[in-house]
Amino acid sequence: MSESLADLHLHLYGAIPASLWHDLIAGRDINWHDYERAFAAAYGRHVDMAGVLGQCDRNSSQWRRHFEFGSDDAGNFDRFQAKFNLLISSSALAGLDGSASPWRAVELELDRVVDGLAHQQRRHGVDYAEYRMMFGPRHSPATVERAARRICYAMGQQSATTMRLALSLPRADPWPMWGVVQAVLASDVGSSLTAIDFCGTEEGFPPQALAGVLADVHRFNARHPDRAIATLVHVGESYRDKTLESAVRWVHQAAVGGAHRLGHALALGIDPQRHRDQTRHESPAERLDQIAYDLEHAVELRRFGVRVDIDELGRERLQRQAQSPRQSIAVHYDQDRVDQVRRRQEFAIHALRDRGTIIEVCPTSNYRIAGLTHWPQHPLPRFLAAGLRVVVGSDDPGLLGTSLRQELSLVGSEIGVTATQCDALVAQAWAARSECLAGRRGVG
Ligand SMILES: [Zn+2]
Repeated sequence: MSESLADLHLHLYGAIPASLWHDLIAGRDINWHDYERAFAAAYGRHVDMAGVLGQCDRNSSQWRRHFEFGSDDAGNFDRFQAKFNLLISSSALAGLDGSASPWRAVELELDRVVDGLAHQQRRHGVDYAEYRMMFGPRHSPATVERAARRICYAMGQQSATTMRLALSLPRADPWPMWGVVQAVLASDVGSSLTAIDFCGTEEGFPPQALAGVLADVHRFNARHPDRAIATLVHVGESYRDKTLESAVRWVHQAAVGGAHRLGHALALGIDPQRHRDQTRHESPAERLDQIAYDLEHAVELRRFGVRVDIDELGRERLQRQAQSPRQSIAVHYDQDRVDQVRRRQEFAIHALRDRGTIIEVCPTSNYRIAGLTHWPQHPLPRFLAAGLRVVVGSDDPGLLGTSLRQELSLVGSEIGVTATQCDALVAQAWAARSECLAGRRGVG
């Protein structure tokens, strides 16, 4: 691995190592109530965080156990979110409510976070790192703009490692925050902001709903090539509220909607055999979206061996339209249905390959958060065999106790990717930096 290393899938706060966060919050007066309540709900036990922090040294294994989302914690997104809440609850950003703003504390925290991460990446030999940042629903657009500008400023001060910011927009209503992004881009620190992202809970937020804002970003890029940004969407990581068919469709639709890179996209490639004999449920609205998709792509789907009966779908559509939105549709996965899902995945994988869409694979995150139980279940080899463009990222390396080098090592040792393929993944990441994908003027 002699080429330049780029980590393209990182979350700013999830990247913070346990020791750095201990340095930042020790001695602070922190209200742990919300964190302790969420932790108890997800883990079924109480934790006294003020007591833990008082007892633990910054490098102690006890502190790391509380801070990190380790293999013992693995299982689902709720447990991960509970651990992430430790950061949210104790951040100086939690004190910002738009009125009596302790801005000095926030700026100091952001400066130390960016500086600490830059030095850590340098130690790991990472030359370029893109960090996503999601602000909370209580943060006003003015607050987000001020904090984002500070992050961009701090990133611009770093010389050892190139750092870039991607602002994460709320899936429910991205437009106000898209306005914030444009204001930051127009500022003197806008060169450090190179993408928007959608992360957090997927369920309930169909990617089709993002198509409007993604199209607006592409129009913005055409008007402002010196500030063009990439579009990143987490999709197909968690899909508990829908059928496998719909989960595959969501990944495809996120790409069609204009995303440059897709985070995780596990639903696109995980072997559906693991769902054999299971029953899944979805809403009539989800099923209607699936019917519309099948009718739109009937010819191509059939080419991949998917059965599409247009008359039958037309009849079912009338029936579903008459159903109450609160009804739940049950789908059972026998062997035939499993085989059909696999064919649908093939169709969508080829569609993404033809579009040049890039998949971001984060192995440790996938294993612990998305519920893989064996490394061979990871779809990375299938993606590579199909010729998809893939990059490896570390997602939340602080919370997960990992690094880009560890993730690249895992894809070889546990997922079975060859050394040649691994080198190609490293090169792919360098080529898939947001500023390159967006075609930002002046970027080599
Ligand atoms: Zn992520």
